[in-house]
Amino acid sequence: MLYVDGKWVGTDELTVHPEDRGYNFGDGVYEVVRIYKGNMYQWEGHLTRLFRSAREIMLDLPWTAEELSAIAHELLAKNNITSADDATLYLQVTRGVSPRVHDIPKGIRPVIMGFVRRKERPLADMKKGLSAQLVEDIRWLRCDIKTLNLLGAVMVKQYAKDAGAQESILHRSGIVTECSAANVFVVKDNELYTHPANHLILNGITRLDVIALAKANGIIVHEEPFTVDFLKQADEVFATGTTVEVMPIISVDGQAVGGGKIGPVVEKLQQLFEEHIYANALV
Ligand SMILES: *Cc1c(COP(=O)(O)O)cnc(C)c1O
Repeated sequence: MLYVDGKWVGTDELTVHPEDRGYNFGDGVYEVVRIYKGNMYQWEGHLTRLFRSAREIMLDLPWTAEELSAIAHELLAKNNITSADDATLYLQVTRGVSPRVHDIPKGIRPVIMGFVRRKERPLADMKKGLSAQLVEDIRWLRCDIKTLNLLGAVMVKQYAKDAGAQESILHRSGIVTECSAANVFVVKDNELYTHPANHLILNGITRLDVIALAKANGIIVHEEPFTVDFLKQADEVFATGTTVEVMPIISVDGQAVGGGKIGPVVEKLQQLFEEHIYANALV
């Protein structure tokens, strides 16, 4: 069951209005929330970020946090998600339907859509690590907004795939920003480095969790820009995100990084993260 503009519909019953601005322009915002053993993980954080993203694109959400929480819980219930299930919840809001003009029409009503999909944790990849390709970050200059307009992300991910890699690592003129849908960290001399949370990256909830877990466990974290060369000479590299969790990256542009295997700091963070998700999942 999907939740679409106030109604419950089957997957094949969803219709999109030809002049929905989400469909025409990618004019909207979204969140992907992890469900571990039937519980939403970091729902409050996702909700807060959804409101922030909407505010930044001048979209007034007509729902309260309580109403959105009720919709999310109903999505889980209607899709029979139980404590036996790992899943993801997708929630998007488009600006709504209006004759096609670029500027924002007055009195337009946002359209919400949500669905749940059963999804296992990526445990095999987390043990093995992924290959990555460096790609110039061709996205816009408001990467801090989780917007539906993802063409830049689509293209960089495909460039990486075409080069034979599983993940893309983006850089702006040699400064590493993030992956196409995840944040990136490197380990050097047992300290973590990741791009600061400004307009050039999406400030991931997993990123914030990992920073907090690292600091709580005595690992120094530098939120500062670093170069492609620094990345290539790192002891360990990993990506973080709602679906990839703490994902080791063991090669970049076909060359091994961090000795081509998973390092001790990544392993430690994976373990801390796993303890954290089961201790903190919200009902
Ligand atoms: C969603 C996203 C992330 C990761 O954010 P999480 O909240 O950890 O899932 C990182 N980068 C981009 C571009 C994203 O869209």
